[in-house]
Amino acid sequence: MSPFLPDPGSGSSGPDSDPFKPPPIVTVVRCLHCDQEYDSFKIHWVEDASFGVGGGYWACSTPGCDGKGFCFDIWPTDPEWRDENGEKVWFDDAEPEGDEDDADGFVDDDSDSPL
Ligand SMILES: [Zn+2]
Repeated sequence: MSPFLPDPGSGSSGPDSDPFKPPPIVTVVRCLHCDQEYDSFKIHWVEDASFGVGGGYWACSTPGCDGKGFCFDIWPTDPEWRDENGEKVWFDDAEPEGDEDDADGFVDDDSDSPL
């Protein structure tokens, strides 16, 4: 028994515990960096000691591309795609934007107020 050996089953780093690991069910993804579409199983684990013992990252399959991480740089092409928890990963763009009426709320009308 050596308490100094890292336990690969309970470590906080590694391909299987990485939050950006590709999904268990293959889907078509697109990398934001190289704009390539491919099957998610091509996302591969790159060991990088700077992430700690057993550390690394999931990387884009395109040679020379530095895209990293499913749902980080690499996204499913299907906006309806859901993860194993049934959660959509794409945000619903239902909220209107651009109505910044509050920008006129800056008070400058009293600049000629009598002293
Ligand atoms: Zn890429």
